[in-house]
Amino acid sequence: MLCLRQLPKRASHAKARSLLSYTFKAVEPVCLSTRRLATAAAQQSKPRDTTDSSTQEPAARRRSLQDAKPFSDFLTDTFHRQHDYLRISVTERCNLRCVYCMPEEGVPLSPSRELLTTPEIVMLSSVFVSQGVTKIRLTGGEPTVRRDIVPLMQQIGALRAHGLKELCLTTNGISLHRKLDSMVEAGLTGINMSLDTLDPWQFQIMTRRKGFDAVQRSIDRVLEMNRAGAGIRLKINCVVMRGVNDREVLPFVDLTRDKDIEIRFIEYMPFDGNKWNKRKMLSYDEMLDMILVKYPTLQKVQDHKNDTSKTWHVPGFAGRIGFITSMTHNFCGTCNRLRITGDGNLKVCLFGNAEVSLRDILRQSNGGEPIDEAAYEAMKQIEMDRRQGLTSPDTPLGMAPNEAELLDVIGMAVKRKKAKHAGIGELEHMKNRPMILIDPVAPTLHGAMPRRMHHLNSTQHFFSHSHQRRLFSSTPQRQSKDDDAKPPKLTHVSETGAAHMVSIASKAVTARVATASCTVRFSSAVAPGLIRANELKKGDALGVARVAGIMAAKRTPDLIPLCHPIPVSRVSVDLALGEASVEVRATVECDGKTGVEMEALTAASTAALTVYDMCKAVDKGMVVDGLRVVLKDGGKSGRWEMD
Ligand code: SAM
Ligand code: SF4
Repeated sequence: MLCLRQLPKRASHAKARSLLSYTFKAVEPVCLSTRRLATAAAQQSKPRDTTDSSTQEPAARRRSLQDAKPFSDFLTDTFHRQHDYLRISVTERCNLRCVYCMPEEGVPLSPSRELLTTPEIVMLSSVFVSQGVTKIRLTGGEPTVRRDIVPLMQQIGALRAHGLKELCLTTNGISLHRKLDSMVEAGLTGINMSLDTLDPWQFQIMTRRKGFDAVQRSIDRVLEMNRAGAGIRLKINCVVMRGVNDREVLPFVDLTRDKDIEIRFIEYMPFDGNKWNKRKMLSYDEMLDMILVKYPTLQKVQDHKNDTSKTWHVPGFAGRIGFITSMTHNFCGTCNRLRITGDGNLKVCLFGNAEVSLRDILRQSNGGEPIDEAAYEAMKQIEMDRRQGLTSPDTPLGMAPNEAELLDVIGMAVKRKKAKHAGIGELEHMKNRPMILIDPVAPTLHGAMPRRMHHLNSTQHFFSHSHQRRLFSSTPQRQSKDDDAKPPKLTHVSETGAAHMVSIASKAVTARVATASCTVRFSSAVAPGLIRANELKKGDALGVARVAGIMAAKRTPDLIPLCHPIPVSRVSVDLALGEASVEVRATVECDGKTGVEMEALTAASTAALTVYDMCKAVDKGMVVDGLRVVLKDGGKSGRWEMD
């Protein structure tokens, strides 16, 4: 095995890189997808060209354009964002207790069987790389405390043969220096190291542990390896808290004078239990102003399309500074990130609480049990036999059946990604698991995906697509060719005209969502004024209406005779108070065999009626109107949205 430590001090960058390429291929994980299988051989023999296509020879450029594959639809959301960057939390454990991240006593840890095993992480990485993910970052908790972190990185590193270009680590640096060399040999290309202070005593206050010297050792070792040509991209992450370490912003900038590193100042973000407080957050603008006083020539550096960081540079300095502005300037428009939590949930947005369990789908191929090394080896053997044509067509294809299901679920989750996350004023009131923690009470879609669906009984799709269109015919609708061709038909009316419950026993279980809305219009400004001042005799009208809407959604089958009971996984009801109205919007999600439009309509109408009830003493002329479904997704008919 070649080792970077054997490199002569002045080894060329190219040489170091070629050594890294060699070691990258040392371990070969099982290759799962059909698409990957088809292209793997070609990729093995022809390393991917990562250079800018504009600098290539015309013939090579033409070839690379011909080879270019369209980006996976599974990883493309409805806003055309292509997700080629995957962050995986590989442990919940940590050897520090940073004040902005964790309570002093730590966080309750999940039972180990709930966490992803190493083969499971490798399998999921493999699936994502097969669909076009080119960058994987391992994070946590503290990833370096995972016992088998190096073998894990070796196996993920081997995915470079299948399109992975960057393997990165976010770490507190405490024990990195001990594992760094083997990690670089495994294919590590970038490190984000957390360091919030340059003062050892302050370090102990902010992390509640000793360890400043160890972090220093890790930084020094990275820089030393880079001088030898390792080419590891090093960034220092510094969370800035007012009154805690804000006086260190300038010393950190000074550090970039001689060191070729990037210091990234992170706006302090709220997570469950971190006692976030707006006053403690130092904004991007404030930090920039502070730096400009000392360095008025500070220059903006052109950021790359998907950068979360806004990068700046003091002319003449070796390094750069950046700002992660999640709180004041979101970068949602170009977000290309997906996250997998330690327990195997896919999170499409750091600040969203919708999650789906990929672990459960993966484990279906192992009778629901965690996939350990032995099970993984058996699966690999099946896959290898299949590749060599040794298996009969009836032989199970190892992971392949799961991979198809995984991709469906991943695709649906990605398509549900919102345009942007909430901002200050909302984020701090939202439930969101701490960066490192599993929060079993968070309102998630977790546990509602395929694992649990097989026991569901049937539910009914109340309105057919075309019926829906007629119901809301005052609003122009998108039409499909199919709609034009088929006469409208009520699904819950039998041949003889009797009402009946439609059997949906043969329908597939899919993730479904529906949003309904309506408006309560007041006849004067009295009621909205009292709601705003929270002076209604009956109390908080909007709060009560929200709860009423949620309760009603869950009771829908008790109220609407032909509705099947559905295991609703999430209901959200939003009420927006205007000058003379309340706009109600209810969204219901489930994993089931039929849609949730009726649940959404019931939630919205009940919330509106509750507002009516709470205001009727002061306004007799209220009108509730415009009740309609505005969005429906999932199932065979796919996405439908009211124009
Ligand atoms: N333990 C590793 C580390 O500290 O780098 C990796 C996990 S840590 C959760 C990942 C990153 O999140 C770190 O850079 C940390 O500084 C940042 N972070 C944690 N809590 C934060 C908060 N409340 N606001 C902003 N950044 C935070
Ligand atoms: Fe641990 Fe990282 Fe959180 Fe600090 S920020 S407590 S090092 S996980």
